[in-house]
Amino acid sequence: MEIKEDKLKEVISHAKEYGFVFPSSEIYDGLAATYDYGQLGSELKNNIKAYWWKSMVQMNDNIVGIDSAIFMHPTIWKASGHVDAFNDPLIDNKDSKKRYRADVLLEDHIEKIRQKIDKEVEKGLKRFGDDFNETEFRSTNPNVLRNKEKINEIEDRMRDTLGNNDLEGLYNLIVDLEIVCPVSGSRNWTEVRQFNLMFSTELGSVAGDASTIYLRPETAQGIFVNFLNVQKSGRMKIPFGIAQIGKAFRNEIVARQFIFRMREFEQMEMQFFVRPGEEMKWYEYWKEARIKWHKALGLGDTNYRFHDHIKLAHYANAAADIEFNFPMGFKELEGIHSRTDFDLKQHEQFSGKKLQYFDPELNQNYVPYVVETSVGLDRMFLSILSASHKNETLEDGSERSVLSLPPALAPYKVAVMPLTKKDGLPEKAEEVLNLLKFDYNCQYDEKDSPGKRYRRQDAIGTPYCVMIDHQTMEDNTVTIRDRDTMLQDRVAISDLYRIIDEKVNMRTLLVG
Ligand code: ATP
Repeated sequence: MEIKEDKLKEVISHAKEYGFVFPSSEIYDGLAATYDYGQLGSELKNNIKAYWWKSMVQMNDNIVGIDSAIFMHPTIWKASGHVDAFNDPLIDNKDSKKRYRADVLLEDHIEKIRQKIDKEVEKGLKRFGDDFNETEFRSTNPNVLRNKEKINEIEDRMRDTLGNNDLEGLYNLIVDLEIVCPVSGSRNWTEVRQFNLMFSTELGSVAGDASTIYLRPETAQGIFVNFLNVQKSGRMKIPFGIAQIGKAFRNEIVARQFIFRMREFEQMEMQFFVRPGEEMKWYEYWKEARIKWHKALGLGDTNYRFHDHIKLAHYANAAADIEFNFPMGFKELEGIHSRTDFDLKQHEQFSGKKLQYFDPELNQNYVPYVVETSVGLDRMFLSILSASHKNETLEDGSERSVLSLPPALAPYKVAVMPLTKKDGLPEKAEEVLNLLKFDYNCQYDEKDSPGKRYRRQDAIGTPYCVMIDHQTMEDNTVTIRDRDTMLQDRVAISDLYRIIDEKVNMRTLLVG
């Protein structure tokens, strides 16, 4: 656990040192849980968005993208249920004065029991070696079974208490499990209270309830209220999807762990409109499609897992998270929700307008069902940064800090370097840069020794460095150095574009 906390600290300081992420308002001592993306961070973020947009919108005939306003009519949030039900149950420890989400305390407790099970399995593997049958072990070992039973009991009680808004029951569960505050170590808890997560502000100069508007806590509602606009103007046929990327705001009770939980963040959401009764088929389809999209990044398949929701949100009939193995452990990266016809029906009722689709094949009008995929852009960023960051000791004993980012997402794809600043090498480097820069973000670097320059590019994740040397002037060849293997190849300048393109084009992530 301690090692992992160090890992998060390392990632945070690396992100700051190299211009990926800065604490917001730093010269004023910062603003809690708010961060700014720096010169390299915004490039990486834009590339993640491009990967998502390309694969969700541009490569699917039946999905289109929109960009709706953050401010919306306040009744939208009444209809969606957010005014009444977008709450988190919070609990305070009286000794440390720290505030927690009651459900998160319980999830963390369950995770500890899961880790005990994993340890037991590891012990079994050590004992039995090659003969070890993990599936059988997990379903027969008494310690594993006892712990599994414990988890089931806790999850049942969580489902009951959270589902029935039974705050006293939730408190009792925390007390019964003897959960202690991670800071004070004490069990001196306050009661559990509900806390609404929406930020509000006022529209125009008139104060009062009528002018209170909210900063959207999810981008999805902008899609729902535009459902008919898009369907009619784009002549969309069900099943079809509407996607968007945009800011969302939540007054999180406990916002910590860097950019994992912020009060202002970005979501990439897609609502897929389907025939009633076909939602489970599409729910399964999108679960598979989305995990495949994540795994294509090459950060390690075992870093992802599904987690079915214990408590379904007020709008859902099935929901699962894709969790990622962050430095803090497995946590939610993306949610896939079968939202039924809840949102569209609510908007019909509150707006008095019909939000129905005429299905020409069935010759029938209906309110479509919706399957949603919703991934946090900032969490994607953290997953990629933390899985890519490594401190390596090289064969000669020297150290290097490297970001092995998926090449297609790296802020710079290529660094072009003249070996020296004279003999016409910079001018030749400029020519090489001109071959690449219209399609790929390149950096020109002529300062310091080649070794230092390579280290600098490793630390910001640039997959390839192209060196222009004296031989270049004679035979038009350059060396190309690979960030991960650190090997150099000599290639003809005329082949350079093709070689780089094959490795860094977004196509590498999208095919297969
Ligand atoms: P959590 O349980 O972690 O609070 P959630 O279930 O409320 O998340 P959703 O409402 O499903 O989250 O939102 C979809 C996605 O938006 C999440 O999977 C996550 O990636 C992202 N997200 C949600 N809240 C935040 C936040 N405070 N900061 C950064 N990203 C967030």
